[in-house]
Formats: sequence, structure tokens, C-alpha cells
Amino acid sequence: MTIRTVVWGENIHEQTNAIVRSIYPDGMHNTIAATLNRDPSISATTATLAEPEHGLGEARLTETDVLVWWGHKDHGAVEDAVVERVARRVYEGMGLLVLHSGHFSKIFKRLMGTPCALKWREAGERERIWVVDPGHPIASGLGDHFVLEHEEMYGEPFSVPEPLETVFISWFAGGEVCRSGMTWRRGAGHVFYFRPGHETYPTYHDTTVQRVLVNGVKWAFNPQAAHTGIHEAPNVPVDRAPEPIVERGPKLHQPGEAGYR
Ligand code: ZN
Repeated sequence: MTIRTVVWGENIHEQTNAIVRSIYPDGMHNTIAATLNRDPSISATTATLAEPEHGLGEARLTETDVLVWWGHKDHGAVEDAVVERVARRVYEGMGLLVLHSGHFSKIFKRLMGTPCALKWREAGERERIWVVDPGHPIASGLGDHFVLEHEEMYGEPFSVPEPLETVFISWFAGGEVCRSGMTWRRGAGHVFYFRPGHETYPTYHDTTVQRVLVNGVKWAFNPQAAHTGIHEAPNVPVDRAPEPIVERGPKLHQPGEAGYR
């Protein structure tokens, strides 16, 4: 059994910008999917913004274990209904990797509940990425740090909720720092944000970055059956309480009645 992974790419820059197209002639999503497919435990396909329902229809998401998200230019074009569908699947246990400018995607902001804003500068700076949780599975096979010679700076404060784990912290040549690898749990879903990946630099061709992506997908995979009951809020009638009780006091609801939504 392999980890069924969908790499979602906005796929706009590759069509409109010659530099991006020269670095990723097959598109960033296909480059990332090809990387993941080199690992025998992962089977990755792709989806893009332009497809109906952005390639993320109900049936397909049901059969997705881990979703990888790269978007930048047109986060607003992602339909709210699709965002909600993805969020539901994360709550049920689908893993989610959010890459680089995906920090401002609707799905990431929806799941974080905070602005997810940060400082940025596009100056091809050296980024030194420190592994601050060496025992974490996402850092497996990495040294104590790695360097990307050209990256966009993302700087703190990064307005996300306090993470479950901080795996990486980046330092940039200009002096700023960024928590560049963080995890959260949302419902039964594992969420990993990984900072590098500006589209005018060859970041996703870097073998260490590729290793983090593979590690991230494996970490985000939840082998349990989908926790579809997570959305329900059952009203348990008195006669079905685990221990016998006598009903008392005034009440608003009839036994078994659905709650307000
Ligand atoms: Zn960028």
C-alpha cells in the first residue's frame, strides 16, 4: 500500500513567466510529484487551479492520504466550497503539506485561524536552515543545517498559532529569521508548513529539500481509517447515558434533537 498523495499546484507562474518556466518546464507540481514518486512508499499525482473543482472533487479527496499545496498568485481564485471540502478531509485525517507562499492560501488560513502573515524580500539571499528538532521524522537524514544559496526571505513575526512542533528555523543573509518548518494537528489531520520554494529559484530541484518533502509526506500520512464522525455533535438522550441518571431541571431540547448550527 502506498501513500496516495496529490500535489496541488496553482500553475500560473509557469504559464506566464519565462524564468519560472525555464526552471520548471513541467510545472512545479509535476517536479514535486516526480520527486515524491521516486520513493516506493508514495504514489503522487497532481491537481491544478484551472481544473474543474481545482482537481479536488469529493471522490478524489476521499482517496487522498496526503495533499501538498503550492499557491501564490491567485489564492482568491480557489473556490470556498473546495477549501471547506479540503478542511473537512484534514479534520478526518488527511495530511496536508503547505509550501512556501501557501502560507497565505485560503486553506492554510482556514485551518490556522490567524492572519498567517510575515515579512518578505525577493533578493536571492542565502538561507541557512537549522534543524532544531533533530529527532523529528521530517528531519530524518539531514545534518544539523542545510543551505539554499538563493531564496526569498520570509521573516518573523509569522502570525500562525503556536505550533505543535518546530522542526526548522531559517536564517537569511539579510539578518531575519523564520520558523520555516512547523507542524500542527487539526482534528485527525497532520499539517506541516515548509517555507522554501520561491518560484524563481530552483529550490525544488535541491536534493535536501526533496528529502524534506518525502519525509513530510510520510510524517503527514495517518494510516487510521478516516474519522468521518468528527463533524457530528450527537445529543445523547438521558436513557442512553452510559450510567443511569434522572433527568432534572429545565431544558431547551427534546431527547435526541439536533443541536443548533
Ligand atoms: Zn515566493
